[in-house]
Amino acid sequence: MIRFHNTLSGKVEAFEPVAPGLVKLYTCGPTVYDFPHIGNWRAYVFEDLLKRFLIFSGYKVTHVMNLTDVDDKTIRGAKAKGVGLEEYTRPFIEAFKKDLETLNILPADHYPRATGHIQEMVDIIKVLLEKGFAYKKDGSIYFAIAKFPAYGRLSKFNLEDLRPGSRGDADEYEKESVHDFALWKAPKEGEPVWETEIGPGRPGWHIECSAMSSKYLGRTFDIHCGGVDNIFPHHENEIAQSEAASGVKFVNFWLHCHHLVVDGEKMAKSKGNFYTLEDILSKGYDPREVRFLLLSTHYRKMLNFTFEALEQAKAARQRIGNFLGELKDVTNGTAETAEVLPLIETAREGFVTGLEDDLNISESMAVIFSLIKSLNPLLSRGEVSKSAAQKVLDLFSSLDEVLAIKPSPIRSASGKIAALTGVSATGAVGTVVKKQPSDMPNRLDSEIQERIEARQKARADKDFALADAIRKELLAEGILLEDTKDSVRWKKIVLPRT
Ligand code: AMP
Ligand code: ZN
Repeated sequence: MIRFHNTLSGKVEAFEPVAPGLVKLYTCGPTVYDFPHIGNWRAYVFEDLLKRFLIFSGYKVTHVMNLTDVDDKTIRGAKAKGVGLEEYTRPFIEAFKKDLETLNILPADHYPRATGHIQEMVDIIKVLLEKGFAYKKDGSIYFAIAKFPAYGRLSKFNLEDLRPGSRGDADEYEKESVHDFALWKAPKEGEPVWETEIGPGRPGWHIECSAMSSKYLGRTFDIHCGGVDNIFPHHENEIAQSEAASGVKFVNFWLHCHHLVVDGEKMAKSKGNFYTLEDILSKGYDPREVRFLLLSTHYRKMLNFTFEALEQAKAARQRIGNFLGELKDVTNGTAETAEVLPLIETAREGFVTGLEDDLNISESMAVIFSLIKSLNPLLSRGEVSKSAAQKVLDLFSSLDEVLAIKPSPIRSASGKIAALTGVSATGAVGTVVKKQPSDMPNRLDSEIQERIEARQKARADKDFALADAIRKELLAEGILLEDTKDSVRWKKIVLPRT
């Protein structure tokens, strides 16, 4: 049974979708006024883990992620650059979609843009005016929070803090200044204007998500996600607008991930303490290492970003890669499938049980490393049979449908396909087996193999000075050789900058 922590109740609850077998999921997408930083990617990777686990558990998932292409920030950016909103936001939307793919995030079923859904927003605002939840003032339209008694339930603030009658136009504001918020903003010099039945103007940020979620998922849907900074005012206001207009419950489960921080401070554009994905990849990291780092801390815990933590994620992933490499190399062995099968079953169950418990990834990852620990001694003694090894490989393939961290071709900083990390080419000592990992560039692979063969020959000839020189020469290029009992493995490592 899957359980999630629901921000609305403040409790971990058993998860049931409205329609059996189908989960309707809405995740707040990027405000496309700049390139996303890896704090944003933490939120999107958490949402992808959630979605992949739901699919793994047998649900069909309909996923909507909006693109906020009109709000205070995009308007400010377009104005400063002297271009229209469409032209200003286009490169950020393109970059966002490219990075989604790079991080192996499953695409959403719909990526609605706010500018394409103005009519849907106007329709909700009309209902709110008719029902008396909204009022006009100086050409703008505001939501009267005092008319909605459940206001504050999500963000859990004291209802006495409400200040009926006070108003604000900004999309983002602090809890301390809770007030009636703008649904529709009166035209201003240099801002885009839509001529509509509720007057000229442009939407506030919050109404956008209410309109786009109900259009694609219906008035009540299963899960709504975002980072904790979205709880107030964004999600609080979404609930108020949607429920006041529809009269039914908006969302059953609210899941929020904690922040990615740098030195204890939220990573944010406004603070200038951010890295984009490209910044990190240009240092030679594989996107799957970034993904692994982002998903391996439980989503409700703060994640402190450091390059040391990234190195640890990289090493942990390489351990998995090396283990898989050894399993692939198994030719024969005495340990019967029957000895390995219970270990596989325990690992599969433990992995699933961990994630069923509010996506407890730490528990699931511990189970994987414990399986590796149990099997390594058997593997190094050559005791695992080929069919047993294949069963373990099958298990990892199946778990990777959730984790999506297995090696594959990656994009280098220059946009080319670069070599992989963490994959080994092996050969028995003296007689290097030519083995081509299918997803590596051949030139690089064959060159490395040649040098390994030359080193093996030097060792066989007892020319240890030459053998050592070749090892060092490869290391200087970032290729680390590892001599195991009866093979030579290599992997790419990131060299410290000189
Ligand atoms: P924005 O583009 O600012 O609307 O944010 C897009 C998503 O990223 C939202 O779900 C935010 O809550 C989330 N987010 C922003 N900064 C961080 C951070 N430092 N850590 C985790 N999530 C974040
Ligand atoms: Zn939103």
